[in-house]
Parts: sequence; C-alpha cells; structure tokens
Amino acid sequence: MERYEIAIVGTGPAGLEAAITAKIRNKKIILIGSKDSSVKVEKAHEIQNYLGLPKISGENLKKAYLDHLASMDIEITEDRVVSIYSYGDYFALQTKEGMVEADAVILATGVMAGKMYPGEEALLGRGVSYCATCDAPLYKGKVTAVIASSPKEEDEANFLAEYADKVIYFPLYEGDVHTNEAVEVIHEKPTEILGEMKATTLKTNANEYAIDGVFILREAVSPGQLVPGLETEGPHVKVNLDMSTNIKGCFACGDIAGTPYQYIKSAGQGNVAALSAVNYLAEKQRNQTK
Ligand SMILES: Cc1cc2nc3c(=O)[nH]c(=O)nc-3n(C[C@H](O)[C@H](O)[C@H](O)COP(=O)(O)OP(=O)(O)OC[C@H]3O[C@@H](n4cnc5c(N)ncnc54)[C@H](O)[C@@H]3O)c2cc1C
Repeated sequence: MERYEIAIVGTGPAGLEAAITAKIRNKKIILIGSKDSSVKVEKAHEIQNYLGLPKISGENLKKAYLDHLASMDIEITEDRVVSIYSYGDYFALQTKEGMVEADAVILATGVMAGKMYPGEEALLGRGVSYCATCDAPLYKGKVTAVIASSPKEEDEANFLAEYADKVIYFPLYEGDVHTNEAVEVIHEKPTEILGEMKATTLKTNANEYAIDGVFILREAVSPGQLVPGLETEGPHVKVNLDMSTNIKGCFACGDIAGTPYQYIKSAGQGNVAALSAVNYLAEKQRNQTK
C-alpha cells in the first residue's frame, strides 16, 4: 500500500490551503475530498470579507481555488474517508474506495450540520453505518434505510439496492430525487434509531420502519466518529494553537476546529496545520536517526 507523508481530508479552504503549503514544503501528500471543493464555498452568493478578493462569488472563489491547485499540480482524490486509525507512528485511513496510509493526517472536513440522531452513536457499527459503498454487501437480502443530506448520496442508495432486498430513501434536501426504481423514496423526517443489540427500527415524524440497517450519509461526520480517541468539544476537535490535537501526528483546521466559521480563518488554519505537520515529520525523522 502506498504510504504518504501527509493525508489531508477535506477540500474546503482549510484542506486546500493545507495541501498547497505542504506541497510547497515538498511533502508527499494525498488530498481527499470533492473535486468540486466544498458546497459551502460554491453556495455563497457574494463574499465581502476575503482579503484581496472583494465581492467575489462563491462560484468564482471555488474556481480560483481549483486553478491554484492545478497550477501546482495538486490533484484531488475524489473519495470519502470513513474512519482514521492511529497506529502510533502512522495512520490508516479507511475510504470508500480502499485504504490509505500516512505518517501525519490533517482533518479539514468542515463541521457537521445538525445533531446526531438518538440511537445513532450507540448503534454505530451495529446496524448504523456512514458508508453504503463500504458496508452494502453486509445487507444482502435485508431491509435498509438511507438518510441522505444531499443529492450526491443518490448513487450510494442505488448501489445499496444492488444488495439489499429493500432500500427506503429519506432525502433531507429539497428538489427532485433521481434514484433507481428499486429505491423507495419517502419524504418524512427521521427522528430516532431504535434497537437493543442492533438497529431494528427507524422512527420518523410520521411512522416507524422496521429495518436491518440505516445508512446516515452526511457531508461530514462527527470528528469523534471519524477518528476514534480524538478529543472533541461538541461538534469540534480540540486543537492547540499549532492545530495539533491530542493524537500525535493528527492536526485539524477550519470549521472542524471551532468557530468562527469563516473562509479566511479556515485557510489560515490550513496553512498552520500543514507547517505543524511538516515540523512533526522532521522531528520524527530526527528521532529515528538518533
Ligand atoms: C451559504 C454560505 C455562505 C457563507 N458565506 C461566508 C462569507 O461570506 N464569508 C466567510 O468567511 N464565510 C462564509 N461562510 C462560511 C464558510 O463557508 C466556512 O467557514 C468554510 O467553508 C469552512 O471551510 P472548511 O475548509 O473548514 O470546511 P468546508 O468548506 O465545509 O469543507 C469541508 C470539505 O470536506 C469534505 N469532507 C467532509 N468529510 C469528509 C470525509 N470524511 N472525507 C472526505 N471529504 C470530506 C466536505 O465534503 C467538504 O468538501 C459561508 C457558508 C455558507 C454555507
């Protein structure tokens, strides 16, 4: 398996700036996220507080970001990181497409909107999943529900339907839904996941559904779920001024590292996180050669 020096997770301003800075410092990096950067960049109508770019639209800011990456030959690996495990001196990242290893990790995944559902945390791994591509084969012939935060998740539901006997799809977004015929679309609001040893029921504002598994597909998962052992405070990762976390070699920046939620602050923290990761790698190498 290919080992990177720094894996950067997330492609908003924090992750992109971290990638640019790490690349300037000649690190072997992998940048994982969306080739479209971030919906939070794209959706902004007019941005008035970005230094040097007055009144820029989100669409144009995204273009400027992606042009900058292209000018430095930085590629975005279109994928989603499902979990990250620290093995002391390196990290293993489970993604939808496979595994990646890295000496250091920078988390730039933005902040999760909304709260976790009651039952979600307790039943995670026991019928609750965040990745249909990873876990669909476990639900062969079973009844599953998908709670989807954006149309991007429609492909995941379609894929799940290739295995599961039944897929009930709850879109949390507005607009048309373009899932395959095998997927049943229900416009109700999920409220709770019930079950003792495993998830058995999904409650909504109108009904209860007997299920074997529920896939909760969001733009970002809570950082504590993503990296077991990571110290968090509400939806945020606890960071020091150099963006380091309680896990050696793991750094966090941008919205995930706390308020205020701002582009320029996210990009600035991405820069600090990358430089701190570079220092961490240098120190690690010094210790190895002692
Ligand atoms: C409509 C709108 C308007 C705004 N206007 C302004 C403004 O005018 N000025 C301002 O300063 N701020 C504004 N903001 C706030 C700003 O958008 C955020 O503070 C900023 O985008 C945060 O950057 P980030 O890099 O931390 O995270 P994000 O921009 O949220 O990017 C995180 C990225 O990581 C990806 N990701 C998440 N989890 C994973 C995973 N597990 N694996 C791979 N990728 C993952 C996400 O898909 C996303 O692409 C606005 C926000 C919105 C929604």
